[in-house]
Parts: sequence; C-alpha cells; structure tokens
Amino acid sequence: MKLSSPMEIWEYLPGTNCEECGEKTCLAFASLLKERKKKLEQCPPLFEPEYAEKGKKLAELLAPEVSEVEIGVGARASKIGGEDIMHRHELTFFNRTALAYDVWDTMEEEELRERVRKITNWSKFYVGESLRLDAVAVRSVSGDAKTFAGCVKDVAEETDLPLVLSGGQFFSIQPEIR
Ligand code: SF4
Repeated sequence: MKLSSPMEIWEYLPGTNCEECGEKTCLAFASLLKERKKKLEQCPPLFEPEYAEKGKKLAELLAPEVSEVEIGVGARASKIGGEDIMHRHELTFFNRTALAYDVWDTMEEEELRERVRKITNWSKFYVGESLRLDAVAVRSVSGDAKTFAGCVKDVAEETDLPLVLSGGQFFSIQPEIR
C-alpha cells in the first residue's frame, strides 16, 4: 500500500458522505480501507464515470506490495502474501504463514495414505484457537515422473488440503507428526 494515512486515501474518495458504504463519512470509510476492514467495491459512487479515474488510481495505490495468493479451494483454502512489509516486527501480518507437512514418492502406499490422513486431521488447541495444518507438500525423491504422478494422485484421493508439489531438492526438518 502506497498511502500511509486515512487522509491520503480520503483524497481519492468522492467526498460526498452519501453513506452508501454504511459509514457516516468518507473519512471513516478511508480509515477502514487502511485497516482492510472494508473493500473499495463497498463505495459504489467510486465506480460511476465521474469518479472512475480516481477509483482506478486508488485501487493501484491500495494494492499490497506483496501480492495475495489463495492456495487450494473450498473450506481448506488459505491466503498467503498480501503484505506490505517483509518482517513481522514492522507490523502485524494480515495473513498468517501457511504450514505444510511433507510426504514423498518413495513411501509405501499404505504408509503414505496414513501420513496424509494424519496431516489432514491434525489439530491442536492452543491459546483459545484450534490450529490445523494448511497444505501437504509432495516431494519427488525417486526422480521418476510416473512414480511422482502416482504419488500425487494417491495424496489427492486422501485429502482436501492444497498440495505443494516439489520436483527439486527440498530440505525437510519436520519431526514425525503425532
Ligand atoms: S459510499 Fe463512498 S462516497 Fe459515499 S460515504 Fe462511503 S466512501 Fe463516501
């Protein structure tokens, strides 16, 4: 985001305080845009011909420095990126880091399927929140395309989590999942 204050954002809004966005003033809406609690589309006048140019410019200026990407589909999909900073200590991240556990294509099928089931169903209650894993990383260790494709198919049959496919070197430090 290239705008640092609600006032800077406000300058691109219609300024009519029409309340169509559900806020009493354009400045209140600007504050919520800054905190990403409202979306630009919630200001309909901004898409009318009179303000369209400003709306386009504002969309560019509000876009995060790191693009947001959604991985997976449905209930287990998660968003990554979408940040304006590189380091957590500068500001709170909007999207938490996605965590993946790995499997590899030289595993025996039953062992593979069991591990995928554990990854999919793993949950830990921590500080009032139920933590779950976000993805399964499938590693090619065999170097054989057909073996890897078969492994990916088996994994996809066992989980609704997004899959991260790794065809190259991959250093794993994950402990055994319990
Ligand atoms: S809908 Fe747009 S123009 Fe109307 S008050 Fe909200 S921000 Fe201002």
